[in-house]
Amino acid sequence: MNIIVQKFGGSSVSNTEKLFNVCRHIRREQEEGNSVIVVVSAQGKTTDQLIKEEQEIATLPNSREHDVLVSVGEQITTAKLCMCLETLKIPAISLAGWQIPIITDSNYGNAEIKQIGKERIYNELAKGKTVVVAGFQGIDSEKNITTLGRGGSDTTAVAIAAAFNANRCDIYTDVDGVYSEDPNLIKDAIKFETISYDKMLEMSNNGAKVLHNKCIMIAKKFNVPIIVKSSFEHKSVGTLVANI
Ligand code: ASP
Ligand code: MG
Repeated sequence: MNIIVQKFGGSSVSNTEKLFNVCRHIRREQEEGNSVIVVVSAQGKTTDQLIKEEQEIATLPNSREHDVLVSVGEQITTAKLCMCLETLKIPAISLAGWQIPIITDSNYGNAEIKQIGKERIYNELAKGKTVVVAGFQGIDSEKNITTLGRGGSDTTAVAIAAAFNANRCDIYTDVDGVYSEDPNLIKDAIKFETISYDKMLEMSNNGAKVLHNKCIMIAKKFNVPIIVKSSFEHKSVGTLVANI
């Protein structure tokens, strides 16, 4: 089984039209004979909005309930994307962290993935389904919902790619790859064709928000090639992040 993991960030799934655009990327990979595991973020600014609402109640909320609250954004995206896929006659199933399960430690708000169950996803792929996973969330050994830290859906995607020995993890975003500086702010920022895990980690430690820090470390450890590309430019080749 040739498995590709495709991760779509918040800006790539922010409305219905964009969700259907995501379906086209999924279909294209499937038409090339690949089984696709999709990982999604919350739509647009949903997570920020949930945190804002939480702050209206308590500035220092109970950390367990914080994770229960902020984890819901991703689940909304999984359901909607599966509905879009089914509309296009692409059989799909949404899976939340607990259903897989993605087991983490109990460090609410910044949990670390310890183990990923394989059986459920393999079974669904074998049935010909597109598996749509809620990023950013897991459960601890006591079945409490946990989240992986802001931007953590990248980490979910790469951890799944490592667990399933995927050929690649494609991270779809609103920029066409990894740039020397933020291309939205600096006009002559240079786009990299390839970049090493170490250089990417260095950029991320210096504040670049392209990829979640932990995701790069997992990719390096398990040698998962990542392609960062735009979900909007269909000819985007993006940037390869790999052991180079
Ligand atoms: N929705 C979460 C956040 O906004 C996780 C993610 O998008 O990767 O931080
Ligand atoms: Mg992100």
